[in-house]
Amino acid sequence: MTSQRTRERLIQRLVEQGVTSQQVLDVIRTTPRHLFLDEALSHRAYEDTALPIGHKQTLSQPYIVARMTELLLSRGPLDKVLEIGTGSGYQTAVLAQLVNKVYTVERIRPLLNRSRDLLRRLGYRNVSAALSDGGFGWPDYAPYNGIISTAAPQSLPEELLHQLAPDGILIIPIGPDGEQELRMIIREGDSNNFSEEVIEPVRFVPLLSGLSR
Ligand code: SAH
Repeated sequence: MTSQRTRERLIQRLVEQGVTSQQVLDVIRTTPRHLFLDEALSHRAYEDTALPIGHKQTLSQPYIVARMTELLLSRGPLDKVLEIGTGSGYQTAVLAQLVNKVYTVERIRPLLNRSRDLLRRLGYRNVSAALSDGGFGWPDYAPYNGIISTAAPQSLPEELLHQLAPDGILIIPIGPDGEQELRMIIREGDSNNFSEEVIEPVRFVPLLSGLSR
């Protein structure tokens, strides 16, 4: 079920859907997605589908992980990246192999603890994770060369723009359930001008405010 052939079939599917970055495809091919899921679901890990991770949250579909990562890296290599919504830690693991340092925040404590342990166990040492409301970014380590949100706010949290380094790039789904769009926002040099491009319609869990209790 987690065989080389199953993984190869997934990569093929991502290519057919238009993912072109070889480095992203290579990382997805070798990252053990089955370890980020409950054992009962691990046999479905290499299907191109979103899967539940408990607490009403989901591990994103591989296509969307690939697409967002490819967009994030589309303007060149990145040093510091902030991820909002650690969830299972799978997207974090993918990023950890492609950028220098990943900062990730999650609002649900059991999810954060589980993924932090797993990432450590798998040897991703360039990750810092915190329990926090990512709607405010993570100011302590700002600015970031890239920010990626894996949960969708209704509108753009301004705070994230302030935490983008010059020429920084933000990849984020925005909008209410059923009407979300993936957006790519780029800070132009060190100015306070930002260009914005709508990429495609998407479906994400909502970005919720405050910590879960
Ligand atoms: N990147 C994850 C996707 C998880 S789904 C993965 O690869 O598995 C999105 C996650 O965002 C959920 O775990 C949810 O709890 C979290 N989330 C939602 N609102 C948030 C907020 N304001 N701050 C931090 N995390 C948030």
